[in-house]
Amino acid sequence: MSSAPLSSRVPSAWPMIDLHRHLEGSIRPSTAHRLAARAGARPPRSEFVADDEGDLLPYLAKIDNAATFATTLDDWWRITREAVADACDDGLTAVEFRFSPQFVAARTGLDADAVIDTVTAAVAGHGLPIDVGLIGIVVRDEGPDSAEGQMRRLLRHADRLVGVDLAGDEAGFPVAQFSPAFGLAHDAGLPATVHAGEAAGPESVWNAVRHLGPTRIGHGVRSDEDPRLLDHLAASGITLEVAVTSNVQTGAAQDRRRHQLAALVAADVPVALCTDNPSVSNTRLSREFDIARELVGAETVERIRRHGFTARFAPSARG
Ligand SMILES: [Zn+2]
Repeated sequence: MSSAPLSSRVPSAWPMIDLHRHLEGSIRPSTAHRLAARAGARPPRSEFVADDEGDLLPYLAKIDNAATFATTLDDWWRITREAVADACDDGLTAVEFRFSPQFVAARTGLDADAVIDTVTAAVAGHGLPIDVGLIGIVVRDEGPDSAEGQMRRLLRHADRLVGVDLAGDEAGFPVAQFSPAFGLAHDAGLPATVHAGEAAGPESVWNAVRHLGPTRIGHGVRSDEDPRLLDHLAASGITLEVAVTSNVQTGAAQDRRRHQLAALVAADVPVALCTDNPSVSNTRLSREFDIARELVGAETVERIRRHGFTARFAPSARG
């Protein structure tokens, strides 16, 4: 393991924070190809990078494909360090990476607790001018009993996490059944964000808010189909983590020009601009801000940028 800095970027004059960035979706395509070659595979770029898939599950499959080749703890240490360096290179001064030990373990056969130890060790002392927080993900695709076990594991490492998240097949696994798992996080004092309103409609966001008590919602863009929900999100100050490019690729938004961002902002819903999976979506946060500027104008984008820092779970792990 090398401890040499991978980036020499100086702090940005226009600081950005990304609150919704999956570590597993931040694996550099070059790294994924190198790891695939090590396993004797030569997958095409389309295995790792999304086009307009138009649906969440084929989009998530791209993340599976890259993660499957990262079969050693050293791989995950390197992937984490590269992801931090890439965030820094794009001008971010803070980032909250989220990852699912259960997902990584299932794809690679690695021990989930060892994955947590490796990722947290890579984040500690990264040596770059960026604050890095880690969010532990519970995967919904194995049902509520597994979710509770996943949450208990995350909570054993709670001192190294800034929050928890629920991710995976939103349409196939409705949110309410995960209430017991998120009750554990609440009791432990860890704030929550929940993927909702991406592959399912406003009812999914309502249920997340009612049953899981999140202070942020991953995406939530389909909230704009229910004006009462928009009012509720605005009144309760729940932040939507919006990732325009990803939303178009997964079909959560019809196309970029008709993305829900303008409607959300017009309804005074707090919004933070995010990338979701920069490698899979082939984007950067600075590019997402450029896109947002076209949609809602520079003044609103500046408000969104500042709000990202307000909505962070906690500053931690400065390198
Ligand atoms: Zn996500």
